[in-house]
Amino acid sequence: MPLREIFRRIDMIYRHYGPRTDIQVSGGDPTLRKRHELVAIVRRIAHLGMRPTLFTNGIKATRDLLCELAANGLVDVAFHIDMTQQRRGYGSERDLNALRGEYIERARGLGLSVFFNTTVFAGNFAEIPLIVGFFRQHADVVKLASFQLQAETGRGILRRRADRITQESVAARISAGAGIRLNFDIPRIGHPSCNRYAACLEANATLYDLCDDPKYSRAVIGRMAGTPIDRASTGRVVRALVGALAGDRRLWLPTLRFVLRKAWQMRFSLFASRGRVNKLSFFIHNFQDAERLRHDRCMSCIFMVATSHGPVSMCVYNAKRDKEILRPLAIDTADGRRYWDPLSGAMARPHEQAENNDTAKLPLKRLKGRTRRRALTARGLTGSDAR
Ligand code: SF4
Repeated sequence: MPLREIFRRIDMIYRHYGPRTDIQVSGGDPTLRKRHELVAIVRRIAHLGMRPTLFTNGIKATRDLLCELAANGLVDVAFHIDMTQQRRGYGSERDLNALRGEYIERARGLGLSVFFNTTVFAGNFAEIPLIVGFFRQHADVVKLASFQLQAETGRGILRRRADRITQESVAARISAGAGIRLNFDIPRIGHPSCNRYAACLEANATLYDLCDDPKYSRAVIGRMAGTPIDRASTGRVVRALVGALAGDRRLWLPTLRFVLRKAWQMRFSLFASRGRVNKLSFFIHNFQDAERLRHDRCMSCIFMVATSHGPVSMCVYNAKRDKEILRPLAIDTADGRRYWDPLSGAMARPHEQAENNDTAKLPLKRLKGRTRRRALTARGLTGSDAR
């Protein structure tokens, strides 16, 4: 997609949501774009006071690139690693922990919050505790672990989710890996059927639930609403928190009680870690199947895709992905209106664009999504679960 169109969409996001909006710079994989363009995208988002996160499989996200992006305003990097990707040489999630460790080292010390995304499917469901255990050991760098439940949508070829994979069963597996029962109901983020979130404190690789006092947690969250938080610096996060709580006398005593209780709970770990504490959060994202979209969930979506015609719920977008992606885009250039054809990458004048947009002329490897799946299925190249 031409940089000009991406800039237009970044500006559109700013007009819709304003400063401090989190923007996932994703793809495909954004690291496949020319480096100077990716840097320019991150810089433009940061320049507008929004928060760019690089979403990548990490293959081309070298330390050098992360360094340059961090210097240009990147706030977070989210590495997506799991067994659905069938990376050569890795036969299990346990094996993939070596790769996760490698990526952690690439991002260490750059001032970035490091996230990991994992698609949960039948092939790795049993290994969730092991993955969580790994993040617990690396909570000095890893700040968020997001588990995304496989859904029958988009370009994925896994299709229907196994019945045993639910928000509840994944939450239980995460708790098993965390070694404590985590409260996934506070705070509520978007629709409860879509998202679950839990936050912990970590000291000496031991986790402690941050939301084990629901009443107090809700009061703090209410107080913090609208307070700008700079996640890139723990000191600034703590200062923002203290500043917000200090402004409400009713929270002074409950806060003191909470801090003393946590300190007592964590005393042995704090002693072993010499007082070093990290925050680690877990997120469960329950994407919807394309054929079973629920109106209330789509209307309260917190993951919107910036399409050419405005923000659209990611589930809706995924359900209509081919239509969205393959549509030629009108782009106003210095020479007048042109149409960018996503299939060929060519810019065409209005009268030329219709004849360029013909999928039949493209080789199979250029076709994505359902078109590709249909073609592969017709050749008997996919498993029986593909439609
Ligand atoms: S993308 Fe939006 S609608 Fe879909 S599961 Fe996530 S929050 Fe819900």
